[in-house]
Amino acid sequence: VLLPPVVDRLIAELAKLPGIGRRSAERIAFDLVARSPDRPTALATVLMGMAESVRPCPECHLLTEGGRCSVCSDPARDRATLCVVETYADAIAFDRAVSGKPLFHVLGGRLSPLKGVTPSDLCVDQLLSRLDGSVRELILATSPSIEGDATAHYIAQEAAGRVARISRIGRGVPTGGSLEHADSETLRFSVESRRPFDG
Ligand SMILES: [Zn+2]
Repeated sequence: VLLPPVVDRLIAELAKLPGIGRRSAERIAFDLVARSPDRPTALATVLMGMAESVRPCPECHLLTEGGRCSVCSDPARDRATLCVVETYADAIAFDRAVSGKPLFHVLGGRLSPLKGVTPSDLCVDQLLSRLDGSVRELILATSPSIEGDATAHYIAQEAAGRVARISRIGRGVPTGGSLEHADSETLRFSVESRRPFDG
């Protein structure tokens, strides 16, 4: 009752963000309203610009502001190596960690019968259409969990015959762990210790 409804709505929206509970949402909201209008206006402008212009890359589903993303359009990339990840955050983490500068493909999740995620919910068809002979190795960098393994297995099956080498990242990452939060050293090791996919 003490809050203007618009501040209440701001708190409700902030509290939906990952890692931000009600208390943190209130702190951020009060900080924004307590300052000069420049601050919330600048934030709103960035958010609206992002919502308007940021789209998944038509090729790999990394995020981009129009057209192919900076990875797909980078001539210095190793186009023979394609690293398949679940999320955008995973791609960023791997890209920081590995030195080979591969191409990426973001699936948009992993297979999960429990959550109703089926192959048609993931960007697998786009991935297969990229395997036109230029890619020599597919690195399956899905999470080391039952669902991540099942996803890797499915992709390996679908991609068989379309690419010379299919490998799975090694066990540097703890089973069930989140790739996004693994440190660079662990991710680098997981890629260096990758092995041929054996199903
Ligand atoms: Zn791209």
